[in-house]
Amino acid sequence: MRIAVVGGGISGLVAAYRLRQALGASAELTVIEGRDRLGGVLRTEAVGGEPVDLGAEAFVGRRPEVPALLRELGIADQLVHPAGLRPLVWAGGRTYRLPERTLMGIPSGPDSVAGLLDADTVARIADEPTRPFSWRPGADTDVYSLVADRFGAQTVARSVDPLLGGVYAGTARSIGLRAALPALAAALDRGATSLTAAVSATLPPPSSAPVFGALRDGYGVLIRALAEQTAATTVRDTGVDSLLRVPGGWRVDPVGEFDAVVLATPAPVTARLLAEAAPAAARAAAGIELSSSALVVLELPKDTALPQNSGVLVATGEPLRAKAFTLSSRKWPHLAARDTAVVRVSFGRFGDDTTTALSDTDLVAAATADLATVTGAAITPNSAVVQRWPGGLAQYAPGHTERVAEIEAGLAGLDDLAVTGAYLNGVGVPACVASATAAARRIAAACTDAASTGR
Ligand SMILES: Cc1cc2nc3c(=O)[nH]c(=O)nc-3n(C[C@H](O)[C@H](O)[C@H](O)COP(=O)(O)OP(=O)(O)OC[C@H]3O[C@@H](n4cnc5c(N)ncnc54)[C@H](O)[C@@H]3O)c2cc1C
Repeated sequence: MRIAVVGGGISGLVAAYRLRQALGASAELTVIEGRDRLGGVLRTEAVGGEPVDLGAEAFVGRRPEVPALLRELGIADQLVHPAGLRPLVWAGGRTYRLPERTLMGIPSGPDSVAGLLDADTVARIADEPTRPFSWRPGADTDVYSLVADRFGAQTVARSVDPLLGGVYAGTARSIGLRAALPALAAALDRGATSLTAAVSATLPPPSSAPVFGALRDGYGVLIRALAEQTAATTVRDTGVDSLLRVPGGWRVDPVGEFDAVVLATPAPVTARLLAEAAPAAARAAAGIELSSSALVVLELPKDTALPQNSGVLVATGEPLRAKAFTLSSRKWPHLAARDTAVVRVSFGRFGDDTTTALSDTDLVAAATADLATVTGAAITPNSAVVQRWPGGLAQYAPGHTERVAEIEAGLAGLDDLAVTGAYLNGVGVPACVASATAAARRIAAACTDAASTGR
């Protein structure tokens, strides 16, 4: 069996690894990657002589996929957890504690947001369960419309947007409720009588388990282990530009013919590649937009007076260019042990042009100045690295779940073709691992069927 995996990000690499597990050494696996390196949005480089992640840095530790994968690959000793410090929010020119017991920043009552939000907004949240509420089961809306209507626009700007800016490089206006907060949508569908009631019904029970995990030496270790243990042929610097049905399989231009194909490319590329083979799926994928972001990693003297917090998120409407600061050396004990301090400064939300408008030099200057503003510390970097991620994150807009269902329906009957990636069922690394595993299962089943019927 000759199988092509197009796209060498985490989704493509996990799909290839699972195919190797399912089909054994005789399967001819080829990973085709447009760039000169594997990993996609996962990239680890030396900063101050030590590995630092320049893309994703963590994963949701309460999901099982990544820890299980690390164990399978024999690199579980890489798993680390944060120190447990809380982040801050920068709003109205000062910092506040990020509210606890919220659902993506949506509070379950007034207590956790008192102080951060003004008295009128807190009173509005307290009063919300008494106001008439209607929700049509199955409906979708952008997060802004629902939360601003029920809890006030300041709740969005200061509590919800800072979190959506981190996860999706989006805003409450660009992100749909049903795809981003499916459990909340389900509680509303079940007949919750207010947003307060729906959030309360959805919050997980308090837990002392760490929310996040990471790899001690960065995601690069995972990318290398996947590539080594999959032992696929890797074709780099080669963008696939078309996918055409041929007798017995697929022609993947410009690389060759294959029995089966996994597309692990971002949504717009997938849409282009599916145009001939699955036009309805292609149209649905083309409707998924991407957001661009940039990261400046600052290496600072170890004694820089950073606050004892894991980071600072910035409310919308603040006169800063950065949207978030991860105080990596405070957040992660394994980084605190190093000789210098590391801070990741993030830029770019869907619809703004910060990342394209600023040169690398301007980004470093903005990162340094904005970090000094929010911490009050003197910031004198030893070194700085700029990493841009154009189109790095899919926007889960209202109607996203229907679009994904249309993609899946459009592939029905094409059992030797599968799609995977962060634009489908979750942008996080654990969701990508799950999506890739499902894509590999589909292709492995098709290959096994073809082998047993002698096709
Ligand atoms: C700045 C940033 C921070 C993030 N932080 C976190 C985090 O802390 N935790 C978390 O869980 N998630 C995080 N994410 C999200 C997560 O990293 C990504 O969603 C995930 O890595 C995407 O993986 P992927 O393989 O689906 O896509 P990608 O990584 O985008 O991989 C797709 C690959 O396809 C290749 N490609 C594109 N077109 C072609 C073509 N025509 N032919 C061949 N190859 C092609 C690309 O070069 C790329 O390598 C972050 C994302 C960003 C941008």
